[in-house]
Amino acid sequence: MAFFLCPALSWSMTQGGARESMLQPSQQQIRRLQATAEARQNELFALLERLVAFPTVSPPARNTEEAQRYVESLLAACGFETSLWDVYPGDPNVTAVKRGADSAHYCSLLLNGHIDVAEVGDSSGWSRDPFKLSLEDGRAYGRGVSDMKGGLAALLFALQLLHEQGIPLRGDLLFQSVIGEEAGEAGTRACMERGCEADFAVVADTSSLSIQGQGGVITGWITIQSPETFHDGMRAKLIHAGGGVRGASAIEKMMKLISGLQELERHWAVTKSYPGFPAGSNTINPAVIEGGRHAAFIADRCALWITVHFYPDEDFEAVTREIEDHLLRVADGDPWLRQHPPAFRWGGRSMLEERGEIFPSLALDREAAGLRQLVRSHQTLTGVEPEIGMSPTVTDAGWIARAGIPTVIYGPGDLRHAHAVNESASMSELIQYAQVMIAFIAEWCNTPKESGRIPLGAQERTGSF
Ligand SMILES: [Zn+2]
Repeated sequence: MAFFLCPALSWSMTQGGARESMLQPSQQQIRRLQATAEARQNELFALLERLVAFPTVSPPARNTEEAQRYVESLLAACGFETSLWDVYPGDPNVTAVKRGADSAHYCSLLLNGHIDVAEVGDSSGWSRDPFKLSLEDGRAYGRGVSDMKGGLAALLFALQLLHEQGIPLRGDLLFQSVIGEEAGEAGTRACMERGCEADFAVVADTSSLSIQGQGGVITGWITIQSPETFHDGMRAKLIHAGGGVRGASAIEKMMKLISGLQELERHWAVTKSYPGFPAGSNTINPAVIEGGRHAAFIADRCALWITVHFYPDEDFEAVTREIEDHLLRVADGDPWLRQHPPAFRWGGRSMLEERGEIFPSLALDREAAGLRQLVRSHQTLTGVEPEIGMSPTVTDAGWIARAGIPTVIYGPGDLRHAHAVNESASMSELIQYAQVMIAFIAEWCNTPKESGRIPLGAQERTGSF
């Protein structure tokens, strides 16, 4: 797609020509830019078509480099300093920053989205090519249009229009195009570990233009390991009176821990809750079990892979501590487990490489200045307040919130269509999203820091992004 160089809009001088107001885009200018977005929607769909054509499916992953280089080139053309760096070979992140004219005093914004898409598998159920965008009856079809190349394309389109129209931004604007979200890989986590600070963040993942927080997910491995290995023929001596051999089947001992987990899950269901979640959403799923060597042995090892869901006001470190405390008490009640307690390995940076993942939770601060501004930008365009609630799924937003940045999930596309055969998104919703974000970026990045709620340390700029 082409970039158009249009003459910059002229800036109104209210209040006797003060420099401050010269730089502040007026509502009229924002409305004009939103109208331009609608008039030039073909460019948004051309951009989306390019993104959909990169088959960035995960798994198998390691296939996003070309797509990320394309995203990087678009950001560079919008005046961003960009950086493309490998998380895994073939799967780089793109991080970028457009420095504000007065970033010490004006609010900064982080925009985040993932470039990977859910696997397609057998595409015979698709009535269209999943990697060729088709537009029909007001809907865009293609893998990732809902989750979340539609969101990425709309953000990039908004940035292009803001740039070409010369809308000044006084605060910094940061962008992360990350890999690995679909396979629980640490794309966004790696960005935050490199150092990233902002006064507010929007993750453009699938939310049907609702503003959302989320519960968290962590996986873990619980392993019982016997120091000795016994032949199957020894079983009688291990379990019967007078046998005299002290040993155990790791599989049978794991049964005790599984029932311990069920008790804890029931206790959580009764004692914990969070608005926006059905009671008992905080489950502990014994998802995979691996144990034993061979029918001729007593099982000397058993490992259980669990998936734990927790609420937005809980952190994964506290949740896993609770599970460990509980299971160690269960183990304490068993003479053999007391001597051979279970080992725990929590989370991981990739379901593909480590069979482990973490999605931290995200509680919403409804009073956060950024959230209130986003509500206004949405309402001004659409005429209605956006729904504010909780996502029934998880996104990378928790990693950004955990780094101390007030964060929301706000993106186009419907979860019913995400990951689905014939994935689709409403074309008008994609355009609306670009329009809302044009207003939000222009307004938030021109908001003085003292009127935003500034997280501690946010002003100590590290220069990294
Ligand atoms: Zn997603």
